[in-house]
Amino acid sequence: MTDGTARNIMLKIDDGLCRVCKRCLADESCRGSAFVRFDKQESPFIDMSRCWGCMECVAVCPFGAVVRHTYGDEALPPG
Ligand code: SF4
Ligand code: SF4
Repeated sequence: MTDGTARNIMLKIDDGLCRVCKRCLADESCRGSAFVRFDKQESPFIDMSRCWGCMECVAVCPFGAVVRHTYGDEALPPG
């Protein structure tokens, strides 16, 4: 579910899945300009402070390289 914020969501690029596309469709789909790429030869990363949680990037990456983790989905570890 998307509530318009990224409060409890962490998105990451899985370097094992990312093909370092010349045109990153996930980046192009991001209206928050949250994708950062310092080097064209490397996978982008996502600046979560700019992300508002639309999940568009997850949907459009053709290789499933944008992976999401929602805090609170799992039980808290003991201790
Ligand atoms: S995140 Fe997806 S679309 Fe972007 S460079 Fe990696 S594989 Fe390509
Ligand atoms: S969820 Fe939306 S705002 Fe956040 S990085 Fe992906 S496309 Fe950008």
